[in-house]
Amino acid sequence: MLREVSADMLTPENRFGAGDMVKIGCNDCKGCSDCCRDMEATIVLDPYDVYRLTQFLNQSFESLIGNGVELSVVDGLILPLLSMENDKGCCRFLDETGRCSVHPARPGICRLYPLGRIYEGDEFFYFLQTDACPAKNKTKVKIKKWLSEENYTGYEAFVRAWHGLIVKKRQAAAQASGLEEQKALSMELLTTFYVNGYRRGEEILPQLMERIAKCM
Ligand code: SF4
Ligand code: SF4
Repeated sequence: MLREVSADMLTPENRFGAGDMVKIGCNDCKGCSDCCRDMEATIVLDPYDVYRLTQFLNQSFESLIGNGVELSVVDGLILPLLSMENDKGCCRFLDETGRCSVHPARPGICRLYPLGRIYEGDEFFYFLQTDACPAKNKTKVKIKKWLSEENYTGYEAFVRAWHGLIVKKRQAAAQASGLEEQKALSMELLTTFYVNGYRRGEEILPQLMERIAKCM
């Protein structure tokens, strides 16, 4: 589903901001589910993704582990990823009809597809994975609309802040004196952002920003 790319591999024409119109509209996928199949476990879930899944499925983070979500070491930190069912070669949340069973709560990377996101310092831009989605006659859609985030500004701020925190924690993990210290860093992240609950009746993004600020 996702390819590793670096900013210098992309042409200036393939760098977009949230207000840009890009040819990504695939007419509601029409039964195709290519991007949910034949991929390795590469979709890392941020705490906003996991919060949405727990709310939608009415399940705790702990109960999602082994049921669509798995923990894996990614660049020195243990983080949650979408599970792939190896026997079927597809995402655990893909239903028998080839539709996403968690569509309203699908993770940010799934919302983006066939776009990707690349960071440059504290900023990021979007790019089109040109050979990714096979749909024909795609229509132009504004990226901000494609992501269907109610509070895009708040979401963008969260994406930046979370990326900054992960970069910092990865650096700390790389400089850790041993496995125990690395594990402690991961446990702190998992507990603070994925396991500990959030205040009910209050918006989630400001709560995530509050926790990120405390951990920086
Ligand atoms: S590959 Fe394209 S058309 Fe197929 S499900 Fe994904 S986004 Fe839709
Ligand atoms: S969560 Fe939904 S959109 Fe994302 S890979 Fe799984 S089935 Fe596809």
